[in-house]
Amino acid sequence: MKLRIAILAGDGIGPEVTHEAVNILKAVAEFGGHDFQFREALLGGVAITAEGTPIPQSTIDICLDSDAVLLGAVGDNKFNHLSPDKRPESGLLQIRQVLGGFANLRPSIAYPALAENSPLRPEVTKGADILFVRELLGGLYFGAPRWWNKETNEAINTMRYTKAEVERVAHVAFKLAQGRRKKLTSVDKANVLEVSQLWRATVDELKSQYPDVTVEHQLVDSMAMHLMNIPRNFDVVLTENLFGDILSDESGVITGSLGMLPSATIGGKVNLYEPVHGSAPDIAGQGKANPLGAILTAAMVLRHSAGLEREAQAIEAAVAHVLEAGHRTADIARGNTAANVTTTQMGKLVHQALTETLDRHDSMHAV
Ligand code: NAD
Repeated sequence: MKLRIAILAGDGIGPEVTHEAVNILKAVAEFGGHDFQFREALLGGVAITAEGTPIPQSTIDICLDSDAVLLGAVGDNKFNHLSPDKRPESGLLQIRQVLGGFANLRPSIAYPALAENSPLRPEVTKGADILFVRELLGGLYFGAPRWWNKETNEAINTMRYTKAEVERVAHVAFKLAQGRRKKLTSVDKANVLEVSQLWRATVDELKSQYPDVTVEHQLVDSMAMHLMNIPRNFDVVLTENLFGDILSDESGVITGSLGMLPSATIGGKVNLYEPVHGSAPDIAGQGKANPLGAILTAAMVLRHSAGLEREAQAIEAAVAHVLEAGHRTADIARGNTAANVTTTQMGKLVHQALTETLDRHDSMHAV
């Protein structure tokens, strides 16, 4: 199959981890005879340095002319003196707006090999595998009116959703649940907020279209507690924008390191894929960055933009395999397992494990 991927490596550790993710995608292309085309474009601090703007028009054009956008990270302290709209991070906000995705997907997985890395006890995190589906274009972040009156010391934001906005993100969550363990937890605050009552009624209305999916509703406050008490009880979790922002960060502790977390934003003109972490200027250029978040993000590209589920799972299995084998970058080193690989070495180990998995699968099919 043909897939055109725009690569926005960005700043700091962005290029280091993106390089490893692209290598993994190239391995999948080579193995399966796919035609993956990569086009690099500038975003963030590197774009300011080269072109005087965090998001050049050429970057927007390349992204809109692609099937998927893979982003590293943006942010560079040397631009901190600029106004917020001129800093590297504004390029990220603008590209998200241009691409227009409304459903942000964030997996939280407890890898057995990293059980000691989570602040939660291993028996609590064991078996946890959650996919957050966060609505990204509505709610308090965008609702009007919004203002801060400094004379009267009063401020207002508006939580607003239309039924259509809830329906489109709920359909995404229902379909994803169908491909997983068929359980959907919808999070709201329906005991207090009318917006949440609309949210809950809309999700309930769609249930009959997905009879194989079990639906439960959780109030956001009790959900925050259940997530940390029994994370394995959840499969797909559907939330509005603010609740999802908070809960998906909270559930990051299940995995145990920011460097392990991938994300995808789908439903817009072109899907956007990025690891959750930032540009980590404290470790940039030292070979210390964990590339696994970016590599797992590459798996999401294959799953959500190419329909290559088997290959996506092979990448995820390869990541689990290198962790089981005891390979660690500094952020996931704990207890008896010290940091023992660089960014590049970790990438190569996943590459090796991946090709072995694909080879094995191929020879099984040939029998
Ligand atoms: P950060 O995610 O860059 O780093 C937080 C901590 O986690 C640091 O100690 C860092 O070393 C560590 N870390 C992050 N990713 C890692 C990885 N892959 N491997 C090993 N360790 C990792 O967040 P921050 O320090 O708050 O922000 C740094 C810059 O990144 C800022 O300019 C910020 O605006 C920007 N930022 C960008 C994004 C993005 O591009 N999506 C997201 C968050 C922050």
